Amino acid sequence: MKELLLEKKGKFILYIIACFIPVLTDLLQIGVLALVFEAVGNQSMDELKFAGFAALGATILGAVLFISSRLMRISYMRDVVLTLRIKAFDKIVNMGYKQFNKRSRDVYVSNLINDVNTFEADFFLSLINVIFRFFMYLAALIILLVINWKIALIIFIVSILVFFISKFYEKRTVRYQKDVSTANEKFTVDVSNVFNGLEILKLNNIEDSFLEKNKKAIKSLEHKKFKFNIFTSFQLYSNFAIGNFVVIGLVIYMIYQLQNGLSYGVMIISIQLSANIIFSLVNLFPLVNKLKASSAIFEKITVPEEVVESNGSKNPFEYNSLININDVSFSYENNKVFKSINFSFEKGKKHIVKGPSGSGKSTLFKLISHVIDDYDGSIDVDGVDLKSVSMSSFNEKVSYVYQDVFLFETTLKENICLYKDYSDDEVLDACKKAGLEDFVASLDEGIYTMISENGKNLSGGERQRISIARALVKKAEIIFVDEATSALNEEFGRQIESTLLSLDATVISISHKYFDGITNKYDIVLEIKDGFIATFKGQDYFDEVLV
Ligand code: ADP
Ligand code: MG
Repeated sequence: MKELLLEKKGKFILYIIACFIPVLTDLLQIGVLALVFEAVGNQSMDELKFAGFAALGATILGAVLFISSRLMRISYMRDVVLTLRIKAFDKIVNMGYKQFNKRSRDVYVSNLINDVNTFEADFFLSLINVIFRFFMYLAALIILLVINWKIALIIFIVSILVFFISKFYEKRTVRYQKDVSTANEKFTVDVSNVFNGLEILKLNNIEDSFLEKNKKAIKSLEHKKFKFNIFTSFQLYSNFAIGNFVVIGLVIYMIYQLQNGLSYGVMIISIQLSANIIFSLVNLFPLVNKLKASSAIFEKITVPEEVVESNGSKNPFEYNSLININDVSFSYENNKVFKSINFSFEKGKKHIVKGPSGSGKSTLFKLISHVIDDYDGSIDVDGVDLKSVSMSSFNEKVSYVYQDVFLFETTLKENICLYKDYSDDEVLDACKKAGLEDFVASLDEGIYTMISENGKNLSGGERQRISIARALVKKAEIIFVDEATSALNEEFGRQIESTLLSLDATVISISHKYFDGITNKYDIVLEIKDGFIATFKGQDYFDEVLV
C-alpha cells in the first residue's frame, strides 16, 4: 500500500498540501467570524468594516484555494488508480497455471472491475478526509492551547476516548468490506454462468430457477453492502453524539464565562476551535477504518498469493537427452490413474500416446508440465528432478497444441507471437513451417489481418496451424499435442499430422486417429492401459501390435 502511494513522491507531497488547504480556509473563516463578534461586542463601526473586508478577502481566497486544491489532487489520484489497475492485472497474468485455475475466471473479472471501483470510490474520499481532519485537529488544538490551555486539555482527553471507541470498530469494518468484495465475486460468477449457459437453460426451460438463484445473489450482495454502510454510519453517528455532548457542555461553560469578562471574540474562537477539533476526530476514526478496509482490498487484488511452486533451488529447464518417468503413481482422490509407470521421452523424437478415453493421457501431460506435482515416484530431466526446475523456464521451452485453439481478437501476428516480440520474418517463417503460407497469402493484410470473434471464420485446420505456428515462433523444444486432429476431417487431419512429424522438436502427441502412411512414422508409441504404460518402437507397433 505504502509503495503505491509513494511511487510518485512529488505528486504525493502536492496531494498532501492540497488536503491541507481546506484547513487554512476553515481557520480563516473562524478568524473572520471572531472578528465580527469582537466588533459587535465592542460596538465599533471601524472594526466591523474591517471584518467585512476580511470576510470578502477570505471568500475570494477560499475560492482560489479550493480550485487549486482540486487541481493538485486530480492527477495524483488518476496515477494511483492506474497503477492499481496495472498491478491487479499483473497479479492475475503472472499467476502459475495451477493457481490461476483454482478460481473461476469471473472472480478475476470481479477483482478488476468491482474491487477497483470500490477502491476508487472509497479510498480517496477517505484519504483526503483523513488528512484534512488530522491537520485540522492538530492546527486547531495548537491554537486553542495558546488561547485556553484548560479547554485544550479537556478536548484532548475526549479525543483519546473517541480513539479507543473507534479501535473497537476497526476489525469489523475491514471484515464487512471484504464480505462485499466476496459477494461481488460470487455475483459476477453467477451472472457469467447464466450468460454462458443461456442456450442450455432456455432449451431446458430452466431459466426461471436460475433467475431465482441470481436474485438471491443480488439480495445477498446488497445486504452485505447495506451492512457495511450501516456499520460505518453507526460509528460516525455514535461518535457524533459524543461530540455534540462535549460541544454543548462547552457552550454553556463559555456563556457562563462571558459574565466573568470573557470577550465575544475569544468565546467564539474557542467554541469554534473546540467544535472543529472534536468533529475532526469524530469523523477521522471511522474514515481511518474505511481507509484500512480499502487498503485490505488493495492487498487482496494486488499482492501475489504464496506461489505453490515446489521448494529448493530453481534450476533452468535444460533438456538434452531424456525426460525419465520413474515409478510414478498418481491418483485423483480415490481414482487411481497411474499405478507405477516407467518410461522416457527422447529428445527430438516423435512420441504418440494411445489409450482409451479416461485412461490418463491428458493427466500424463499434466504430470510433465508441472500442473500436477503431488505424485509418488519421480520425474527427471537428464537427471535433474523436474520439481526443482523453474516453471517459467519450462514454459518458455514448451508449447501446447489442443483440440480447441483459443484466438484473441487481434492480428494474426499477435495471435502467433502471443504478445511477445518477434520479427515479421520469424512469424512468416513459423507460418511457412506450420503450413499457413497459402492462408497468409490469401489475406489482404497478411499477418496483420485482424482475427475477429475467436476466429469463427477460420477452419479447424487453420486454427490448429496457428497453434503450431505459436510453438514454432517461440522455438519450443517440446510440443505437447492433445487430440489436435480429433475434430478435423481426414484431409486436414493428415496434413496436420504430417506437419507435426516434420517439426524440428520433441513432439508428444495424444491421438486416437490412425492416418495410413503418416501415423506409422511416429518414432515411439506409448500405450496406457489399466494404469500402466507400455512402450513400443513406432515401426514395431504399427507393423505388429496393431494388426
Ligand atoms: P484421457 O485424457 O485419457 O481421456 P484423463 O487424463 O483426462 O483421461 O483422465 C483420467 C481419469 O482421471 C479419468 O477417470 C478422469 O475422470 C479422471 N480425472 C481427470 N481429471 C480429473 C480431475 N481434475 N479431478 C478428478 N478426476 C479427474
Ligand atoms: Mg484427454
